[in-house]
Amino acid sequence: MKIICIGQNYREHIKELKSAVPTAPVFFCKPDTALLLRNRPFYIPDFTHNLHYETELVLRIGKVGKNIAPKFALSYVDALTLGFDFTARDLQEDCRKAGLPWEVCKAFDNSAAIGEFLPVGDFPQGPDHIHFEMKCNGEIRQRGNTEDMIFNVPTLISYVSRFFTLRTGDYIFTGTPPGVGPVAIGDKLEATLEGRPVLHCEVK
Ligand code: MG
Repeated sequence: MKIICIGQNYREHIKELKSAVPTAPVFFCKPDTALLLRNRPFYIPDFTHNLHYETELVLRIGKVGKNIAPKFALSYVDALTLGFDFTARDLQEDCRKAGLPWEVCKAFDNSAAIGEFLPVGDFPQGPDHIHFEMKCNGEIRQRGNTEDMIFNVPTLISYVSRFFTLRTGDYIFTGTPPGVGPVAIGDKLEATLEGRPVLHCEVK
């Protein structure tokens, strides 16, 4: 199992991070030790002073594929949920300035919280027309729609599968809309996918 994360896939989020709009999908990976499942609490690690949430649609891959053509890509997705791509923003800024890889700021233990998967059949509109929201302590912090992604789901799957064989059970985080921000001890994060609660997480 691998966790592939798309970066910089919503224009408004790129603006808030003052990045440039990419000409091809940007992605990185997290190891299996990054998984945080079953709504377990998230403990802020001691190596960061600016830990951010990023709420993202997560795809689960349902069959093996390599060099997948965009027109067949949706048949490789068997379930959807939301995830939090927890990010040590201070370390990420250091990495970006120095041109270094992102593992220390993105791939640490428990940095990939993943909610309850719902079968794709529950979403006849398909993964490119999904509305989602995240509330922190009851207040809306992020509201997104996958229609606003720069690279849609078939493009992401096709692109990533040029480099990596996709396997059953792999996960793809598809990027975050604007509204990312810091978490503090005691925060309660709750995310809904088309109004259905699929992920919550208490910060400790
Ligand atoms: Mg992200």
